[in-house]
Amino acid sequence: MQSHLAKFIATASSIDASNANGNGSHNEDALVVVSGVSPDLDLDDEPIQRSQKTDPDLGRRVAQFLIEKGVATPQIETGLDDAEKRTIIARNFAEIMRALGLDLSDDSLADTPRRVAQMYVDEIFYGLDWRNFPKCTTVENKMGYSSMVIERNINVQSNCEHHFVIIDGRAHVAYIPKKKVLGLSKINRVVEYFAKRPQIQERLTEQIFYALSYILETEDIAVLIHAKHYCVKSRGVEDVNSDTVTSKLGGVFLTNSATRSEFMRAVNSIAAA
Ligand SMILES: [Zn+2]
Repeated sequence: MQSHLAKFIATASSIDASNANGNGSHNEDALVVVSGVSPDLDLDDEPIQRSQKTDPDLGRRVAQFLIEKGVATPQIETGLDDAEKRTIIARNFAEIMRALGLDLSDDSLADTPRRVAQMYVDEIFYGLDWRNFPKCTTVENKMGYSSMVIERNINVQSNCEHHFVIIDGRAHVAYIPKKKVLGLSKINRVVEYFAKRPQIQERLTEQIFYALSYILETEDIAVLIHAKHYCVKSRGVEDVNSDTVTSKLGGVFLTNSATRSEFMRAVNSIAAA
């Protein structure tokens, strides 16, 4: 399964270059505009504008790295472009609605299948496509900054891969710069990218960790996520107030208890606030 994807990723550069329908662009400065419009569905919604620059080449290398680390999302290559995905999802979601006994001739329900299709492909699951990986330009750590950098309270809006229901939480990410420093907003972008795919929280945590360790060329990274899982909450299996905490600590965050405590104190101080 993963070797299939690995092979695909390895040959992806040529596919990417010839894929006129891909969201990714080799023009790094281009604003990404996802049209969201499939000609055969006669869509009339506004195009989705993601105000985020992408780096498909970095996305491909990060995807490869996650496979090597054993934390990749189980994926197969479908060969479908985004318009084809939307068409197939809309058709099949209409079947789901009919099976539930919903009347698709009702004007409130009629457009739901294609709305869901557009939402899946262009919004909540855009992070399945490494061509959408955010541009993460690093700068050389010339000032020799060697203290902890912490980005706290990053919004996590994801969907659980077992029920396709919302995971809603916050991520806290810290790292200690070695050779490279990354713009803080880029950490938020990396978290968002991996949240925008069907997920389990443990893997989400690991993917963020390893992507950042690849980009920053260090393992001195800490990622902690706490989130509510609506599949637990809305289905009443467990306490509605429960949340799930996952973390991945690397390098000095593992070996140095003072560093680890400093990170945990920084995280707990907002939890308590
Ligand atoms: Zn679930």
